[in-house]
Amino acid sequence: MTNKITKESVLAALSKVQEPELHNDLVTLNMIRDLEIEGAKVKFTVMLTTPACPLRGQIEKESRQAVMSVAGVDAVEIKMSSDVPNDGRMRGLVNTTIKNAIAVGSGKGGVGKSTVSVNIAVALAQSGARVGLMDADIYGPNIPTMMGIEKLPPPTQAKIVPAKAYDVEVISMGLLVKPGQPLIWRGPMLNSAIRQFLSDVEWGELDYLIVDLPPGTGDAALSLAQALPLSGAVVVTLPQLVSLEDATRGLNMFKQLEVPILGVVENMSYLDLPDGSRMDLFGSGGGMQLAMGTQAPFLGQIPIDQNVRIGGDSGKPIVVSYPDSPVAKSLREIAERLAAQISVAALSGSNELPINIVE
Ligand code: ADP
Repeated sequence: MTNKITKESVLAALSKVQEPELHNDLVTLNMIRDLEIEGAKVKFTVMLTTPACPLRGQIEKESRQAVMSVAGVDAVEIKMSSDVPNDGRMRGLVNTTIKNAIAVGSGKGGVGKSTVSVNIAVALAQSGARVGLMDADIYGPNIPTMMGIEKLPPPTQAKIVPAKAYDVEVISMGLLVKPGQPLIWRGPMLNSAIRQFLSDVEWGELDYLIVDLPPGTGDAALSLAQALPLSGAVVVTLPQLVSLEDATRGLNMFKQLEVPILGVVENMSYLDLPDGSRMDLFGSGGGMQLAMGTQAPFLGQIPIDQNVRIGGDSGKPIVVSYPDSPVAKSLREIAERLAAQISVAALSGSNELPINIVE
């Protein structure tokens, strides 16, 4: 005699499957949708919180195993989909179509902040997310060069239209002024410029808006970080311990503004040599130490590779030009971990800071 499969028995099985990042089961998290039973076959959709979910494969496998163990089931058809949650910070803005704005900052310049912003944005877009990239680094707006963009498309209905490259919607302070003109921005001007970037730009629906902030913790970085309803921030640092002080100042700035720290990224961590050995050109351990000291998630290390610079100079980010290289792989993993942290922060619904800053 065959048992009749019920939705309750399937959901009971799926309630044993955990979403490891969100620390709860798929049923409680309302991730199981469109459950159908056709004879001995069970069909459903798993609605992830990001298309860049690092544990996608594991969640699918465990869901399949759980449902296959229900008596009477002989086939399981799973559709993996995603709906990026919104932490509500952007809701303060009228008519916004942006779900999450994430700032990328650094304690000082030249650590790879723009490189990380660009490659994270492209990697998230490659995973299927809807992504925007706002170049707010008024000191060196080099995102257009890194993304191979020369100018913005003509505006429509009094709205600025972003340029599109590698499926990312891009806007840059550098595209709004004539090339070679010095950019002199002061507090109030910065504030209105950034508000314009949010309200007067035809962004369309975005899951993630990555914002490349000016380096450091000076007036420009502070006013911009203040003007934006940020869901969280990522801080890029180098491995040497002397960078820790700068990076800690960067983290403290976000703490003062009550912006949650989504993670620390360590760039230029090591150089892989042709003989297979690894060289720590700039020391080691800075990023991890910063993350541990501040209880912020460590999102990962990025090795040194001259193709990163070549890609940046030629407008082809490394996740596009050398997608199989170790450095592209580490950038993709960082983007996935970041996406997971954004989901955790959005779903926890808490505006409490998840970190303690070491002064
Ligand atoms: P920032 O935005 O912090 O000023 P950039 O992203 O502009 O820094 O990077 C500074 C320079 O270092 C650029 O020429 C960039 O191509 C290069 N660079 C960044 N990260 C790496 C890396 N992992 N390997 C090699 N070159 C890198």
